Amino acid sequence: MFDIQKIRADFPILSRQVNGKPLVYFDNGATTQKPQVVIDAIATYYQEINANIHRGVHTLSQLATDAYEASRTKIQNHINAQFAHEVLFTSGTTHGVNLVANGFASLLKAGDEVLVSALEHHSNIVPWQMLCEKTGAVLKVIPMNEKGELVMTEFDQLLSDKTKIVTVNHISNALGTINPIKYMIDKAHQFGAAVFIDGAQAVPHLKPNVQELDCDFYAFSGHKICGPTGTGILYGKEAWLNKLPPYQGGGEMIKEVTFEKTTYAELPHKFEAGTPNIAGGIVLGAAVDYMNSVGFDNIQKQELELLNYATEQLLAIEGLKIYGTAEAKTSVISFNIDGIHPYDIGTIVDKLGIAVRTGHHCAQPIMNFFEIPGTIRASFAFYNTKEEIDVMVEAVKKAKMMLS
Ligand SMILES: *Cc1c(COP(=O)(O)O)cnc(C)c1O
Repeated sequence: MFDIQKIRADFPILSRQVNGKPLVYFDNGATTQKPQVVIDAIATYYQEINANIHRGVHTLSQLATDAYEASRTKIQNHINAQFAHEVLFTSGTTHGVNLVANGFASLLKAGDEVLVSALEHHSNIVPWQMLCEKTGAVLKVIPMNEKGELVMTEFDQLLSDKTKIVTVNHISNALGTINPIKYMIDKAHQFGAAVFIDGAQAVPHLKPNVQELDCDFYAFSGHKICGPTGTGILYGKEAWLNKLPPYQGGGEMIKEVTFEKTTYAELPHKFEAGTPNIAGGIVLGAAVDYMNSVGFDNIQKQELELLNYATEQLLAIEGLKIYGTAEAKTSVISFNIDGIHPYDIGTIVDKLGIAVRTGHHCAQPIMNFFEIPGTIRASFAFYNTKEEIDVMVEAVKKAKMMLS
């Protein structure tokens, strides 16, 4: 049973006021709020088992190591990876993209091609540009249409034997488009290209099955699934992770070090140099447990209802335009009102306690496509309600009146 009031009571921040009004938090695409179980798990770690991992023989070190590795296994099961050592702890999606893009520098040569989609977050564009600059590889862009959908016939045309890696998000943070990644993965594999999936906006809404998808890499951030900031996961197929060189050198990632030569540790440690965010990694497991206890069926049902309701209510406002009208779409609404700068609306609704994102959402190429400076983005989570949407719609109407 999905009891929204019970769910909301799990999140202490949802009962606070902002600018004298009850908080309406619609910036879930930027980061999600944290339930009490996650907040408590951070304290419990430091109160009871804090120690460095994978080193000491002492009891606390073993307890911390066991908890950290148990979290890795939990996430392995959650995304259905074949092996636990294919699941790397990172500091977030950005770290995962950089790790892979950096590793590909040793595999690419001038004239090879990297395909990136027009719908990407900057963190899934810039590292690939840096890779291309370093290697002389060429960055090609899979275009999108007016609805914010990637054009698959163009994608098919771009693929060739020169394509070495295709990188695309599972779900767009700016528009909410759910991309046809299964199709893209299968198609890219026909040309021997690897496929990197940026799952940052997908994992809050669905449980990815990496073996079924057959993707080569899948990255996401902990803070967008009710977990702590500074945590994330990079899944990579074993064969690829063995092929890529280490990203950072340091403690923990070595087998043997002499001044003449260092040999690297086995997976996953080869990619986990230095003391990691131990508390964060463990607590990310608690966040995954929490999401599963709510249930992804319930999450999707609630969010779809919110998306449909908010779309209908917002479109009733004259002069309001929604960007991103893909058939397959998640609970993100990017919009503007004729003649009004998104920042001005964001500022007024904030005074009324409503948190929405305004700007380019780290996706300037999408804004350029629509020839706009930015949008107002309301992104809903399962703990949001229709009543909150009513509050936002009234506030947007009020802002429109004040500004036009
Ligand atoms: C948030 C986000 C990122 C970056 O995640 P970080 O947690 O900032 O590393 C990358 N891609 C998409 C689609 C995102 O939504």
